[in-house]
Amino acid sequence: MSELVINNLQVSVEDTEILKGVNLTIKSGEVHAVMGPNGTGKSTLAYALMGHPKYKITEGEATLDGKDLLDLDPNERSKLGLFLAFQYPVAVPGVSVANFLRTAINAHRKGQNPEDKGISIPDFRKKLKEKMALLDMDESFAGRYLNDGFSGGEKKRVEILQMATLEPKISILDETDSGLDIDALKIVAHGIKAVNKKDQGILVITHYQRILNYITPDFVHVMLNGRIVESGGPELALRLEEEGYEWLREKHAV
Ligand code: ADP
Ligand code: MG
Repeated sequence: MSELVINNLQVSVEDTEILKGVNLTIKSGEVHAVMGPNGTGKSTLAYALMGHPKYKITEGEATLDGKDLLDLDPNERSKLGLFLAFQYPVAVPGVSVANFLRTAINAHRKGQNPEDKGISIPDFRKKLKEKMALLDMDESFAGRYLNDGFSGGEKKRVEILQMATLEPKISILDETDSGLDIDALKIVAHGIKAVNKKDQGILVITHYQRILNYITPDFVHVMLNGRIVESGGPELALRLEEEGYEWLREKHAV
């Protein structure tokens, strides 16, 4: 059982306060969605949790299984079991998908046990093949340079492939649906469900309800102007689809 606890998190970017006190608890087995209009602080929450140096925590706490995350480097947060799938994955020419993933797996294993010699090549190949099949990815992907010339859908699949191979405790997926056509969206959403184990928690950050048709959230939260102003079940996402965010702005005067 794992638990990410975010308590009164306040975050500034270049001296502008963006997050104004976010509270959220995500446990293993739960799928949470954070929705909200553009510019409301959703990516800021993701980056601040992962430890991007540009995002300054001015107040509040975030813990994973009781361990304080906010003093740790991003790689230490990753080793503890936190994962972020980026809204805009970057290309790394010269580093193959397979190499990147094996390096990440080995870094995690060394974090757990400094004596670890790393995953064997046959074991790694087997694991990669199995996870790529879940995501309906051609095996030739493994040899290609990370995100170099990849389509939007391919980049997002590689993000989920990372999630699948690292098996994090809590995954944050920042607009994994953005820029995908409906076929790519279905593949990615089914992939997320296929790789998501019962003991993992997921935070799906999204602007639109449509990905939630495929990954049904247990909890839906709406962020407006740096705060979660409303929480509910999947029906809240459906209401937003119908009515937009205006009624919530009025209700909460933001
Ligand atoms: P969302 O993901 O909900 O669209 P963001 O978290 O990206 O929103 O942005 C929230 C606010 O913070 C916006 O006003 C945005 O301009 C500002 N912001 C976010 N990241 C940066 C950054 N790296 N530099 C400057 N401003 C930023
Ligand atoms: Mg964003």
